[in-house]
Amino acid sequence: MTLDEIQSAESNLLLGTYDRNPLLFERGEGVYLHTPDGTQYLDLLSGIGVNALGYAHPAIEHAIAEQSRKLIHTSNLYYHQGQAALAARLTRITGLDRVFFANSGAEVNEAAIKLARAYAGLRRSEGAPLGTKILALENSFHGRTMGAVAATWKDKYREPFAPVMPGVEFVRFNGVADLKAKFSTDVCAILLEVLQGEGGICQLSQEFLTAARDLTRSTGALLIADEIQSGMGRTGRWCAYQHYVSENGSGAPGERSSTGWLPDAVTLAKPLAGGIPLGALVCSEEAARAIHAGMHGTTFGGGPLACAVAVAVIDTIERGHLLDHVTDIGTYFRNKLQQLAQNHSAIVEVRGLGLMLAVELDSADLAKHVLAEMMRRRILINRTSETVLRFLPPYILQREHVDTAVSALSEILSEQPAVAAATAPAGGAHHAR
Ligand code: PLP
Repeated sequence: MTLDEIQSAESNLLLGTYDRNPLLFERGEGVYLHTPDGTQYLDLLSGIGVNALGYAHPAIEHAIAEQSRKLIHTSNLYYHQGQAALAARLTRITGLDRVFFANSGAEVNEAAIKLARAYAGLRRSEGAPLGTKILALENSFHGRTMGAVAATWKDKYREPFAPVMPGVEFVRFNGVADLKAKFSTDVCAILLEVLQGEGGICQLSQEFLTAARDLTRSTGALLIADEIQSGMGRTGRWCAYQHYVSENGSGAPGERSSTGWLPDAVTLAKPLAGGIPLGALVCSEEAARAIHAGMHGTTFGGGPLACAVAVAVIDTIERGHLLDHVTDIGTYFRNKLQQLAQNHSAIVEVRGLGLMLAVELDSADLAKHVLAEMMRRRILINRTSETVLRFLPPYILQREHVDTAVSALSEILSEQPAVAAATAPAGGAHHAR
C-alpha cells in the first residue's frame, strides 16, 4: 500500500489515538530510516528513545534469530534461561536486588505503584504507620494506564478518563519546601523522574533528591525512580540517578559507581530490549518482601525472546564501551547546541545529560516550524512541552551526524526572522522574543 492508501485505511480502521507525521518507513540501518522509495532520514529520536543501538544492529538481529529458533514464549508458569541472566545484569547495573518483568513502561510503573501499596500494607501489619498516598511531580509523565496516568501531571492525559486512581498529590518540580510540606506518614511512595522527558528534559536538583531520600528513609515509604526514558545508558550512566551523590556523600560526581544516590525501586523499559517490548521493575530486597506468588503477574512479561535481546543489548553496550561514547558524543552535541544558542536569541536554554538533550525555544510556533523544517531536511526530532525540541538519538551517533543536525538547525533559525516577518500579523511580531 502507498502512504495515501495506508492513511485512508487507518483513518477508517484505527482508534484516533495518534496524530502521525505523513512519513512511511520501510527499513532502517544504523542511525538512518528509509522510506519505500529509498529516501533516507537521520533519526535523532530513535523511536522515542527505544532504538539505542540504531537500526539493524547485528547483535540484535543475531539474538532475535537465534532465540526465535529455540523459544519465543512459555508464559511465567515455567522456567527459561532468559530472566535470571537478564536480572543478574539489571541488578548489577542498577545497584538494586530483585526484578519483575513486564512489557512496557506504563506496566512497570503500575507494578511499582502496586509494590509501594503492598509494602506499606506489610509495614502496617508490622506496626509502622504508613498510608497509601503517592507523591508525584509537576510535569511528570509515567504512562497511560489508570495508575501511571494518575501520577502523570498534565490534565489532558487524566481528565477524559476520570476518576483515575485516587491518592496522588503533585509536588512542585525541585520544590523542596513543597515536598516537605506534602510528605507525611500518609505517603507510601514518592515517584519521580530524575531527568524528566515529556516534561521538557528537566533535571532534579541534588538538594531535592537528598530531601526525597531523607524523608522516605524516615518513614519507610518507597522512593521510586522512573528511568524509562533516562535509563539504560541514555545519559552516559546506566541510570540517571547515578549522576548524584548519596546522603553520606558517596558516589561523587564523575565516578561511575552504584554506591551513590539509590532509590528503593527503578523502572526501566524503552531501550531495554532494543525495540522488542520489555519493561523491568528493579527493587530492593526490603521492598521485595511485600510480594509473594499470585499477587501480581503477566502472561507475556519477561518472555524468552525479549530477555535474550535485552541481554544482547546490555552486553553490546558494555563491550562497545557505549556509555563512554554516549558521554563523549553527548558533550560534543550539547556544546554545539550551546554555541548555536549564542548565535540565536530564539534559543532560551540548552539542557540535558548524555544523549537526552533539549533546546528550549521562545515560542511554540517557532518550535513547530523548526520541527517541520528539520523533517523537510530529512532529520527527525520531536517537540515536547510546546516549546522544547527534544533529541533522543541512538547511542551509536557520530560527530558527523551531530554536525549535520546542528547546521540544519542553524540554517532554519537564521531564516527565521524572514519567516516571522512574512507571517507576522500587521502591527506585531509573530514570535515573541
Ligand atoms: N515513563 C516515562 C518517563 C516515559 O517517558 C514513558 C514513555 O514515554 C513512560 C513512562 C511510559 O512508557 P510506555 O509508553 O512504554 O508505557
